[in-house]
Amino acid sequence: KLAGREFQQHNTVIRVGDLEIGGGTPVVMAGPCSVESAEQLLSTAHAVKAAGANILRGGAFKPRTSPYAFRGLGEEGLKILAQAREETGLPIITEALNTRDVELVARYTDIIQLGARNMQNFALLEEAGQTGKPIMVKRGPSATVEEWLLAAEYILATGNRNVILCERGIRTYETATRNTLDLNAVAVAKRRTHLPVIADPSHGTGKWYLVAPMALAGLAAGADGLMIEVHHDPDRASSDGPQSLNHLNFAQLMQQVRRLIAAL
Ligand code: PEP
Ligand code: MN
Repeated sequence: KLAGREFQQHNTVIRVGDLEIGGGTPVVMAGPCSVESAEQLLSTAHAVKAAGANILRGGAFKPRTSPYAFRGLGEEGLKILAQAREETGLPIITEALNTRDVELVARYTDIIQLGARNMQNFALLEEAGQTGKPIMVKRGPSATVEEWLLAAEYILATGNRNVILCERGIRTYETATRNTLDLNAVAVAKRRTHLPVIADPSHGTGKWYLVAPMALAGLAAGADGLMIEVHHDPDRASSDGPQSLNHLNFAQLMQQVRRLIAAL
């Protein structure tokens, strides 16, 4: 299989502008769960940039459990993301929810995110793969590592070698946290595949005060980077407020991340 270490021993390094993902120095993707307005996104984009983040995240098309919840600004959100990239120089990552939106999302974004709920949407994996853009595949909430790697394989089989994996927590019997961040899977994936692996302790825990310890644990487990949700006012966020760091807490986490990276 194309994703396997048997096929390729050396780590895949994905270049986005002059940033390297999987090149040995962990990368941090940070930003709000949802793009809510230009003011909101630009404020957080400048804050995460100043704190040392490498990539700006933000959802314009949101997969929500309830159809009545905020489902994103759509193309307007993509335009705001592009404006934030212009102002900060940070590359952007945003989710494509379905095959219809892939072309539109690809026109704006540097990296296409495929969400956990879509991990086995094989038509979407192929459509996104065919854009040639780097694709980050989030692990399904009840997918095995093998199924996750086979999802990546669908993209690789289109000829697109720029695939990133993201562990974002799985559903278990535990209810103390939103999901269970499976750091075993990070270490297992690093052994089985040459593709970069990102840890997402925001969705992996669902609680802002658990994000820093699990972010550091993810890097210690061998992750090539982190995805962290950040909001200027988490209590008023349109989605995932309870797991979002405010600007100050994110800056403090980045200091700890730098100290850990220096020690690893
Ligand atoms: C997100 O990144 O905001 C998101 C919806 O993630 P997941 O697909 O992991 O739930
Ligand atoms: Mn979210």
